[in-house]
Amino acid sequence: MKPAPFTYHDPPTVSEALGLLAEHGGDAAVLAGGQSLIPLMNLRLARPGVVVDVNRVAGLDHVEIGSAVVRIGATARLADLERHEGLAEVLPVLPAAIRHVAHPQIRNRTTLGGSISHADPSAELPAVLLATGGRVRLESVRGSRRVPAGDFFLSPFRTSRRPDELLTSVEFPIGGGLRFLMDEVARREGGLPVVSVVLGVRTGARGRVAEARAAASGVADRPVRLRRLERGLTGADLGDPAVRRAAADRAGHGLEPPDDLRGGGAYRVSLLRALVERLLEGAAA
Ligand SMILES: Cc1cc2nc3c(=O)[nH]c(=O)nc-3n(C[C@H](O)[C@H](O)[C@H](O)COP(=O)(O)OP(=O)(O)OC[C@H]3O[C@@H](n4cnc5c(N)ncnc54)[C@H](O)[C@@H]3O)c2cc1C
Repeated sequence: MKPAPFTYHDPPTVSEALGLLAEHGGDAAVLAGGQSLIPLMNLRLARPGVVVDVNRVAGLDHVEIGSAVVRIGATARLADLERHEGLAEVLPVLPAAIRHVAHPQIRNRTTLGGSISHADPSAELPAVLLATGGRVRLESVRGSRRVPAGDFFLSPFRTSRRPDELLTSVEFPIGGGLRFLMDEVARREGGLPVVSVVLGVRTGARGRVAEARAAASGVADRPVRLRRLERGLTGADLGDPAVRRAAADRAGHGLEPPDDLRGGGAYRVSLLRALVERLLEGAAA
């Protein structure tokens, strides 16, 4: 199928892109990697009257590594982030998660900002953002604001971004001593996961967990923090398999995952449990 008619703009600067979004608001769609938007338009599930292509906007694909924060421009391609040496050093969970996203050809086009803005409740990168305590920067002609991941993802494919706002960068805190790992189960290589889990652990005195942060995708209508798991892990000795098993058993309590074509709710809870146990084993090692 072909998309419904639309007007195309490819502004060279952020301010021109913001001007277009201010003018066309809810009738405009931002085009980044196009790996989700274009199929949706071709299927006529999205019918924007105006497309604002941000691929030509200068300076929006930066990677800045500071002492406390990694700031990545919205149009940075996943393939570039996957191979970025500095990122592999300070935030290895991001390239690790990116390797699970789709296939190399798709990662060559997909942008970090597009993956976060698309807000697929099964996607890996929103869960990484949530687990690490990251936030997004949104800009409009009215000004800019930073929104924590927990306030950004609202429901499937819906975020707190306003129609005239452009997501310009994504920020991940680093240097807090948490070591993050992620894993997932997908029905086939390169497909969206049924469930993915991101777990960060900081070890304290006598090898016990001083702090834990965890998030999952595929178990709710948006990526969610696994707060019950986090609380239960504090003070735990991950060297003990019984402790890891008990923590994994509790991870899905209170969650009511959706039933859909990729998996039923009970199956998703059992995957979550298995993934958490596997990650805890990795954290113990
Ligand atoms: C075969 C296949 C397999 C895939 N597998 C996975 C997978 O395993 N995991 C996964 O997470 N994804 C997967 N995807 C989705 C893919 O990674 C998407 O392309 C991605 O989610 C969107 O990124 P994009 O840069 O292509 O954005 P686009 O498709 O250009 O845009 C997506 C949405 O975000 C909005 N948007 C984009 N950039 C901005 C911005 N800067 N500011 C505001 N709004 C913006 C657009 O308007 C649109 O609504 C797969 C896709 C395909 C085709």
